[in-house]
Amino acid sequence: MRAAILVEPGIIEFKEVETPQINANEVLIRIRAASICGTDVHIFEGRWKVFTPRIMGHEGSGEVVDLGEGVTKVDVGDRVVVAPLIHCGSCRMCRVGRYNICERRKFVGIEADGVFAEYIKVDQTNVEPLPYELSFEEGALVEPFSVAVHAVRRGGIPMNGTVAILGAGPIGLCAIRAAKAAGAGEVLSIDPLEDRLLLASELGAEVVINPKRADVRDLVLKHTGGRGADVIIEASGSPEAYKGIADLAGRGGKIIQIGLPLAQVCFDMLPFSRKELELIGCNGHMMDLEGALDLMRKEGGLLSKMITHRLPLRDVVKGMEMVMEGRGIKIMLLP
Ligand SMILES: [Zn+2]
Ligand SMILES: [Zn+2]
Repeated sequence: MRAAILVEPGIIEFKEVETPQINANEVLIRIRAASICGTDVHIFEGRWKVFTPRIMGHEGSGEVVDLGEGVTKVDVGDRVVVAPLIHCGSCRMCRVGRYNICERRKFVGIEADGVFAEYIKVDQTNVEPLPYELSFEEGALVEPFSVAVHAVRRGGIPMNGTVAILGAGPIGLCAIRAAKAAGAGEVLSIDPLEDRLLLASELGAEVVINPKRADVRDLVLKHTGGRGADVIIEASGSPEAYKGIADLAGRGGKIIQIGLPLAQVCFDMLPFSRKELELIGCNGHMMDLEGALDLMRKEGGLLSKMITHRLPLRDVVKGMEMVMEGRGIKIMLLP
């Protein structure tokens, strides 16, 4: 099969490798769509270390083409989504259902070979059936959407509460839909790129704010009757975003972290005490792709508006460069 292999930071080779051989509980999937995530770009740039050579990619869907004899969950011919979190099932966190913070956690495309290939083999726990209403491309978006669903579930949104989302990249956009589904009232989307803000409105944000053109704090206060937002979702991953974040939150508010700054962040602690704010850390998603799939199905694939480009898998580096330059939102790779 052909695969996109990271041989060292900055170098991806698209070449012929052996198709994986499956074991008893494993499923062989022919990848039909895979999308590029910000994490892939960090890995490509060498800012996130992985053992090489590694087939990259963790957002993908495809068709089951072969099964081990122990597989009961899916059949040959089934359309599936790859659930990339690999957990041990026996550590303390796994035993209480918090698989995403498993002590022996691994991830497809990081510690195991990924979806930027014609085929992938995974354990049957790492596949989720793709409902017929959703396309393979939408299937690839289930994983990033699950990240937003997990964060919103973990943080909790008060009914009709005002939610300010920092960053309108793929995860910030997914967070709009997740917040709405969880009962949010007004959603404010904040991003310096106009094309992203346009998409944020299409996905249901009532208010969009460009920090280059307006004072974010003034506008958040204006739209909340001077109170501040009930929930802030940080999905930009920019250390800068944390600076004034507590000033955007109302009393008793919550700040949900999804974006992952790769540098230290600095913020004023005083408002946390004065307003009894909560800062809630989030790590990826649980194995709850099912919930995300259900939501996507109900919304008729609204999230596919995020797909701005489609490239053949061999052009993966071109796709990475587009993400680095902030061109496009979700780039779909088609093997
Ligand atoms: Zn991702
Ligand atoms: Zn575990």
